[in-house]
Amino acid sequence: MEAFYEYIDHNADRFIQDLKKLCSQPSVAAQGVGLRETAHLVMDMLGGIGADARLIETDGAPPVVYGEIGQGSRTLIIYDHYDVQPPEPLEQWKSPPFSPEIREGFLFCRGVADNKGDLVSRLQAIEALQATIGGLPLKIKFVFEGEEEVGSPHLAQFVDENKELLLGADGCLWEGGRTDMSGRPELYLGLKGILYVELRARGASRDMHSSYAPLVPNPAWRLVWALNTLKDEEDHITVDGLMDHVTQPSADELELLDRIPFEGDKIKEDLGIPEFLGGEQGTDAVRKLLYSPTCTICGMVAGYTGEGSKTVLPNEARVKLDFRLVPDLEPGLVLDLLRKHLDSRGFEDVDIVSMSGEHPAKSPFEAPVAQAAIQAARAVYGQDPVVYPLMAGSGPMYPLSAALGIPAVSGMGVGHAKSRIHAPNENIRLEDYFRAVKFTGEFLRAFAET
Ligand SMILES: [Zn+2]
Repeated sequence: MEAFYEYIDHNADRFIQDLKKLCSQPSVAAQGVGLRETAHLVMDMLGGIGADARLIETDGAPPVVYGEIGQGSRTLIIYDHYDVQPPEPLEQWKSPPFSPEIREGFLFCRGVADNKGDLVSRLQAIEALQATIGGLPLKIKFVFEGEEEVGSPHLAQFVDENKELLLGADGCLWEGGRTDMSGRPELYLGLKGILYVELRARGASRDMHSSYAPLVPNPAWRLVWALNTLKDEEDHITVDGLMDHVTQPSADELELLDRIPFEGDKIKEDLGIPEFLGGEQGTDAVRKLLYSPTCTICGMVAGYTGEGSKTVLPNEARVKLDFRLVPDLEPGLVLDLLRKHLDSRGFEDVDIVSMSGEHPAKSPFEAPVAQAAIQAARAVYGQDPVVYPLMAGSGPMYPLSAALGIPAVSGMGVGHAKSRIHAPNENIRLEDYFRAVKFTGEFLRAFAET
C-alpha cells in the first residue's frame, strides 16, 4: 500500500480543492436549495473516477446519485448524503458557510464534516487505489442521497423501487465517523431510530384577552398537562407500554460497552454541566446513552414570546418532540402507543402530526464489514477503533441494511469530536481528512479479502 499512501500525499492539494468545490455548492434539504445542482456535481465526480453513474428519481425527492465501479467476489454499498443542514444562524460563522476556508489546519464550511468530506474522501481513496494497485478488487455500489438531513423520507421507497440493484451486496459502509476527544477512531455497528412528531392543542377560534382565562380553555396548559404524562421527574419515559418493547444489550454488547473509554468529565466540562442526569458515570452512563430510548422536547411555542409583556390567552399551542428509538422500538409502534396513551388520559383533543421516522439498525461485531474496518483502522490509526454497538444518534441505515439483510458500519470518517456538525463553524482537521482517505483504501482491500 506504500504507493497508495504516496499517491494521496502527492495529490493532497488537488484533493482539498475538489472537496472545497463540492462544499461551495449549497445543498440544503430543509430549504430545497441547490439539491439538483449538487447531485449533478456528485455524479460528475463519480464519473471522474471511472464509475458508471446516474441519477435515479423517486417521486417528490431530490435524485439519488447511484454509481457502480469495480469487479470482484465481494460487493460493498457505500452510502453518503450530499445534502447539508441549514447554515443559520449566519452571524455566528467566522467565514461564510459556503465559502470553504482553511484556518490553522482546519477546513471550515457547512457540510464538510457531515457529510461531504466523507463522500469526497471515499471517491479519492478509490481513485488512488485504482492508480496504484491497478483496478479495484471488489464491486462498489454508491448510494448518495439528497435528503438525509430531513430524515430521508424517500430512502425506503428508493430501495424498494431499486431492489434489484442493491440485493446481494455483502456489506455497507455508512456515512459519518470521527475521532473522539483523545484522537481515537470510532466505529459504530448500528444506530438508534427516531420518531419526530408535533403535538398541537387548540382552544378558542382566535387569541383572546387573557381576562377570559376563567372560562376559555388554554391550549398551552393542555399541552403542558399532556407532556407531563410522558416522562416522570426521574427522567423515565412513562408512555404506556413503550418500555416493554426495549431489548437489553446482549452479553457481547455489554463487553463492547465495557471497553468504551467514556470521557464523561471532558464532555461535562465542554457542555458546562456539573453532572449527567441521574448522576450517571462510566459504563453506566455509556449504557444509558446508547441503550435508552428518549423523549425530548425540542421546541415549544404558544402565545406571545417576544419583548416585554402581552396578556394573551393563546388559541393554539405546539410542541415538537423526538423519540430516539432503540431495538425493538419502531416509529409506527411508538406513534400508536403515544396516541393510545394520550387518548386514555382524556387528551383526544391533542393532535399528533408525525413528521419523520426511522427504524433502529444494528449489525454484528463478527460481520466481515466490521472486521475489515477494525483491521483498516489498525493499519492507518495505529490502534483499534473504539467500537460502539449502537450510536446515540439516528440515521436512515435500516432500509440499506436490515431491510436488505446487509450488515452496515459507520466509522473512521473525516470528523473529530469538535467538528460542530449541524452548528455554525462546522469543520474538519485536514490531518483527519487524509487519514480517512487512507482508511477507506485499507478498508476496501481488507473487505475484498474477507
Ligand atoms: Zn447530519
